[in-house]
Amino acid sequence: MDPLEVMERSIKAYKLTTKYHGNFVHLKRALFLGWYCDLEEPCKFCYMSTQKNRIKDPKSARRRLESILAEAVLMKRIGWKLEFISGGYGYTPEELNRIVELVAYLQRSKQYLNVGIVDFEQLNLEVIEGIVGAVETVNEDLHRYLCPQKPLDKTKEMLLKAKDYNLKTGITIILGLGEREEDIDKLLDLIEELDLDRITFYSLNPQRGTIFENRSSVTTLEYMNWVSTVRLNFPKIEIITGTWVDKLSNIGPLIMSGSNTITKFPLFRIFGRREGITVEKEIRSTGRELLGTFSDIEVLKGIKKLENTPYVDEDIVISEESMRLLESLRDAIDKKIEEYVSGILKRIEGKK
Ligand code: SF4
Repeated sequence: MDPLEVMERSIKAYKLTTKYHGNFVHLKRALFLGWYCDLEEPCKFCYMSTQKNRIKDPKSARRRLESILAEAVLMKRIGWKLEFISGGYGYTPEELNRIVELVAYLQRSKQYLNVGIVDFEQLNLEVIEGIVGAVETVNEDLHRYLCPQKPLDKTKEMLLKAKDYNLKTGITIILGLGEREEDIDKLLDLIEELDLDRITFYSLNPQRGTIFENRSSVTTLEYMNWVSTVRLNFPKIEIITGTWVDKLSNIGPLIMSGSNTITKFPLFRIFGRREGITVEKEIRSTGRELLGTFSDIEVLKGIKKLENTPYVDEDIVISEESMRLLESLRDAIDKKIEEYVSGILKRIEGKK
């Protein structure tokens, strides 16, 4: 990698992003359904692989529905779109339909799903905008070793099929797993073959208890190299880039290299605090406007309406059964929203 070339390519990528996507940056967040993955041999980098033996009853490792829905309501309030609804393998189509319907209804917004290989015939596609395939790495040897039970072919097949149903598609890629620079070409081929609408990059966040525990992640320049190369080859694709609290200063460079959206924050821990404000400053320092907020307490509390929201309300129709379930959960959802908000406020005041 030639660092000067990366910087030069990034300048071009930034301008190209402005041309095709305007001057905005989004914040997004994955909505997680639980901490358990059904795969017998989970992926070797994944947090869920460290939990598998500790969880006796998989159902106990799922979030309560009111907590999932409360989070969806808050995300809309603060103007963060859900990157996707995600969980390990093991959810039935009925369970997924119920959750996605309710989230879509509360947000007035169709959703992306990232839950492994899905059966399109059994899903309520009326509330789904797109499907994400967790590719993780395009290096085949690495993929076979790290994700022995998620063959790439199956994911590709699913994403191609999604297009037949007029769904948008995306993939996730983790950088820092051991991929090589030459693998970027394989990624470009894959994006073209699948005609993807979006790509999410993460930099490895080494999990305790995995083989990556003491590994370092990719450098900011390496990350920029991948992002800018994808942007220059696919000007219209949405590029989402993940960071973490210990890497907030890579946000500016990632936007400069063509990222549209920043994701992967412990939102409830850092909203309104120094780190949340740093994220906003990093984004604005690139000359872009931020959609959504990471610091406005009045918006979070719901006493002020967010002006710069990325949400555009859609008509979402759900089954009567789902509607009845929602009504029965209203009080519990409101209570959970209050809990989340007061938790954030206590952290801001340093009481937690
Ligand atoms: S399929 Fe997803 S949730 Fe399951 S182990 Fe792999 S990365 Fe983790």
